[in-house]
Amino acid sequence: MGQKILIVEDEPDMVLGLKDNFEFEGYEVVTASDGLAGLERARAMKPDLLVLDIMLPKLSGLEVCKILRGEGYDKPILMLTARGQEIDKVVGLELGADDYVTKPFSVRELLARVRAILRRAEGTKKRLQRYRFADVELDFEAYKATRGGAPLDLSPREFELLRYLIERKGETVSRDKLLEDVWGYESYPSTRTVDTHIAKLRSKIGDSGQEPKHILTIHGFGYKFIDP
Ligand code: CA
Repeated sequence: MGQKILIVEDEPDMVLGLKDNFEFEGYEVVTASDGLAGLERARAMKPDLLVLDIMLPKLSGLEVCKILRGEGYDKPILMLTARGQEIDKVVGLELGADDYVTKPFSVRELLARVRAILRRAEGTKKRLQRYRFADVELDFEAYKATRGGAPLDLSPREFELLRYLIERKGETVSRDKLLEDVWGYESYPSTRTVDTHIAKLRSKIGDSGQEPKHILTIHGFGYKFIDP
């Protein structure tokens, strides 16, 4: 599933062009054509990236940025500025935008910036430290786990797998993605490896009945952690 990008821009041609290009790159795109609508949409959907034009009807991009940051909004914001606008203010701490691109820009340049921002955001994302579900307690920092109060023996890989799935609670994660992110590129296990580890993990956490309650199998695709 692609990352979500919200584009707030009032020039229809620009919106269309950006939307096409972002979608082609696999991003999910939502748009708003004025500052107020953009503000509301950003609050409601918390996109992975907000692309915000400065010159907007109703509420300027600068104001939208300032309001969102004032509310503790912590997702990346990329500003679209026109030549001659005070870009120093845009990226200043005062407003809290992550980057800006000056119009006219090439789509290729914009996409490169977008990828860089999203990569950075991914890298600094705080990892989950502790989690508790059913009778299982997990401490990912100390690599300690208990079940029903008794020590639970999980391998580092099992810890990592569980942490990865819990951090994406409610989200289906493909086997390939798990291999890529939990096992890493340097090893080349097959997707069967993932299934084997999941089966073992399920039995350890007491979730291996006919119908698992926490680590669900999404047939032909991957797994999903839920905590109802
Ligand atoms: Ca504009």
